[in-house]
Amino acid sequence: MASALTQQVALVRKCNRCLYSVRSHFHTSSGLSSKDHYKVVVLGGGSGGIAMGARMKRKVGAEHVAIVEPSEMHYYQPMWTLVGAGSKTISASGRSTASVMPSGVKWIKSRVVKFAPKNNTVFTESGKEISYDYLVVALGLQLHYEKIKGLPEGLEYPKIGSNYSLATVEKTWKALQNFKEGNAVFSFPNTPVKCAGAAQKIMYLTDSYMRKTGKRSKANIIYNTSLPVLFGVKKYADALWEIVKSRDLNVNLRHNLIEVRADKQEAVFANLDKPGETKVFEYEMLHVTPPMGPPTVLKGSSLEDEGGWLDVNKETLQHKTFSNVFGIGDCTNLPTSKSAAAVAAQTAVLDRTITKVMKKEKPDKKYDGYTSCPLVTSYNTVILAEFDYDGHPLETFPVDQSKESRIMYHMKADIMPHLYWHGLLRGLWGGPGPYRKIMHLGMK
Ligand SMILES: Cc1cc2nc3c(=O)[nH]c(=O)nc-3n(C[C@H](O)[C@H](O)[C@H](O)COP(=O)(O)OP(=O)(O)OC[C@H]3O[C@@H](n4cnc5c(N)ncnc54)[C@H](O)[C@@H]3O)c2cc1C
Repeated sequence: MASALTQQVALVRKCNRCLYSVRSHFHTSSGLSSKDHYKVVVLGGGSGGIAMGARMKRKVGAEHVAIVEPSEMHYYQPMWTLVGAGSKTISASGRSTASVMPSGVKWIKSRVVKFAPKNNTVFTESGKEISYDYLVVALGLQLHYEKIKGLPEGLEYPKIGSNYSLATVEKTWKALQNFKEGNAVFSFPNTPVKCAGAAQKIMYLTDSYMRKTGKRSKANIIYNTSLPVLFGVKKYADALWEIVKSRDLNVNLRHNLIEVRADKQEAVFANLDKPGETKVFEYEMLHVTPPMGPPTVLKGSSLEDEGGWLDVNKETLQHKTFSNVFGIGDCTNLPTSKSAAAVAAQTAVLDRTITKVMKKEKPDKKYDGYTSCPLVTSYNTVILAEFDYDGHPLETFPVDQSKESRIMYHMKADIMPHLYWHGLLRGLWGGPGPYRKIMHLGMK
């Protein structure tokens, strides 16, 4: 069966090829040079990889930097929340990798498959052996739909979507538009995730959409989360509970999605507090936030911790064993909420750490765990959560950010994408820390 999903994936690939063929040629692409040693090698050309590539270019010169990245398209993933709710398009969220690659930097268009950190070398799928003086690992995380019985094949059915993947985000919007009557079910897995808020943002948007279209009275909206809390930081969790109550949303804590019977429109959840107990929810719409895990390529690399994540110092981002290896973003074991906002703050610290290490000095700048989550609560409001390692709010603006705000919605939908493409990816945006100080008259 040539499914809609398969066709969609083929279309995305075709689109990638078109964009690639008209790409800019300011950087040098793979296969044109036999050079296999770089002063700095960056693994992964996502948010953290491109940003660090740009910063390293300024530090050591473009010809001494290589970025290993297999994809021809780069996506601003935070926009997918709005794509799933129909207020942005998928094409607005992506640009060709060539166009975001720092000019002059070598793009090795392949996938790293093996590490030899004792020899300062990595190996790529295309058979290249690349040695480095300094290595920055920015490999992101892996989605594991296959850990839920019935998926990923169940995602080919209608009425089910997932904002976390390029191939399924538009299916969320279709399911929302086609909703007639019944349960709209949203899941949150029992693994670390990127942007923990995204799993519930789509629930609030669904509620808003149904109110706008007159379908709300026919919908029973259910958020089943593996967590024992609605959100990890109490200040924002309290605000979200108020919204949940006032909008008649049903939240079940410690419920973990384990099976999807897409042909019957049934989702099976395990009660994590009562081992062996499961509950079946019929659905008219299902949004899946999949289990997530570290990049499998790290397994057995001697760079990973016991959980498989890149093992870095939580303040300096330097690897705990190999002093010329550094990590950034979702692939690391930094004990903070994984987000692009966290990546931005990490780039400033890592830039400084690498400068110091290059000078054989002790890293001195410390990452405080800053991360942020614009909790979209409707088509024009956001609660802007910002916090540190200890779950203490670290708010940029001198207002109570746990209150729903229209201005914060515009920040999320209109300003942050610009900050991402033109600031973060160019190595010019290291998070709002300095602005926070100014906004709070030097008091924070
Ligand atoms: C639906 C959704 C909503 C989100 N909302 C927000 C939000 O509102 N705010 C926010 O701050 N963040 C948000 N995020 C999270 C944010 O997008 C990520 O945390 C951020 O992109 C992480 O950056 P990264 O560089 O660590 O990983 P990524 O940007 O995912 O990049 C990893 C890169 O590594 C490459 N790669 C993988 N394996 C290999 C390999 N073997 N060899 C070479 N390259 C490889 C990949 O192709 C990819 O380009 C959201 C994410 C999603 C999915």
